[in-house]
Amino acid sequence: MLALRLIERKRDGGRIEAGEWRALLGAYVAGHVPDYQMAAFLMAVYLRGLEREETQALTDAMLRSGGALDLHSISAPRIDKHSTGGVGDKVSLVLAPLAASVGIVVPMMSGRGLGHTGGTLDKLDAIPGFRSDLSLAQARAQLEHIGCVLLGQTGEIAPVDRKLYALRDATATVESIPLIAASIMSKKLAEGLTGLVLDVKRGSGSFLQTLDRGLELAHTMVAIGETHGCPVVALLTAMDRPLGRACGNALETEEAIQALRGEGPPDLMEVTYALASEMMLLGDMVADRAEALEQLERAVASGAAAEKFKQIIEAQGGNPAVVDDPALLPQAEAIELFRAARRGFIVQIEPRAVGRGIISLGGGRTTMEDVIDPGVGFVITAKPGDWVEAGEPIASVFARDEAGLRAGAAALREAIRIGDEAEPPLALITHRVTVSGVQLYATES
Ligand code: URA
Repeated sequence: MLALRLIERKRDGGRIEAGEWRALLGAYVAGHVPDYQMAAFLMAVYLRGLEREETQALTDAMLRSGGALDLHSISAPRIDKHSTGGVGDKVSLVLAPLAASVGIVVPMMSGRGLGHTGGTLDKLDAIPGFRSDLSLAQARAQLEHIGCVLLGQTGEIAPVDRKLYALRDATATVESIPLIAASIMSKKLAEGLTGLVLDVKRGSGSFLQTLDRGLELAHTMVAIGETHGCPVVALLTAMDRPLGRACGNALETEEAIQALRGEGPPDLMEVTYALASEMMLLGDMVADRAEALEQLERAVASGAAAEKFKQIIEAQGGNPAVVDDPALLPQAEAIELFRAARRGFIVQIEPRAVGRGIISLGGGRTTMEDVIDPGVGFVITAKPGDWVEAGEPIASVFARDEAGLRAGAAALREAIRIGDEAEPPLALITHRVTVSGVQLYATES
């Protein structure tokens, strides 16, 4: 009866009270509300939206559906980063050890890839032996010991989110700002953080493609953090082309290792340093961005960041030798250069088409049950705005076999557009959102 009443009320644009959210989600987790009623309710939320207080109450009810990391015994700043997802986004693999190497405690909980976007857990799985299925007690012990843990979404944290997300995925209700914000923040608030940095992607390869929607999502999550006593800063970053050069799980892990050793591509380093600087500012560890950047660059140059990654890998059962020798990561059987079909400017490298290409190679999922091949993918060396000659190598395809090479090349032909006029891509980092409002990133003092 409760579910039916709430579906009717939301369908008609009414408001759901805090106690009702708790009752509804509790009944859903207990199996007393069937999926078809929850699906109807989610669609009503998708179409009608939620008021700010409702989004807060939903987040709270999701958070309370499970346990949380209790990290009060750790006095250092406890700060995580979350990205709304994209193609080639391996920032977490670089940033978590980097931030830990300068003294931030990083309890990073990540997900798997689905659809065209990749997931951090799949990239970590490419490391032989690596385990991300730690309990909260194991995660806490590792944080106390080495200051960073890279874990999967355990059943202990916001368990209702897993059920709701699967249902949203099957009912075209994922792209709802309040549902996305509550889903992300309920998990992040369970990490026992003193601060959170968000990387909100915008552009054709992201969940929310327009600037307005990206800003709205950022504001919503910043406000949820504020209510829960967790300061949140969001940067809006470009996802109208892949980030870095490598796209595909083991290839991205290798690029992340290169980045930790000071050999990362400039765009990956810029986004990573910007987010890590925000983490240091949130932790009151530096006076300004310039000071943060200096410390972060030093941690990379000295080898401290790469060393921290080795410690994390070893603590989680993986082979730390991959950091010195990335050839130990899974390798593709077949590799082929992809060449420019004509001379001209690279006008576009469409991230969704690249992401779909990874799926066609066997490196991504269309359902959560799919088993992926970690070795396949692309390394795209050209960037929008580059001038290329006909026949010039602009990418490589990494595949299982000949058929994969052909599928990969077809995907790149669809993704990469070459024309006579250069079209400027989105600026890499454009806005910074905090409780005080929005600032343009480049002009901010
Ligand atoms: N990531 C999440 O964790 N939840 C969403 O709803 C969307 C992206």
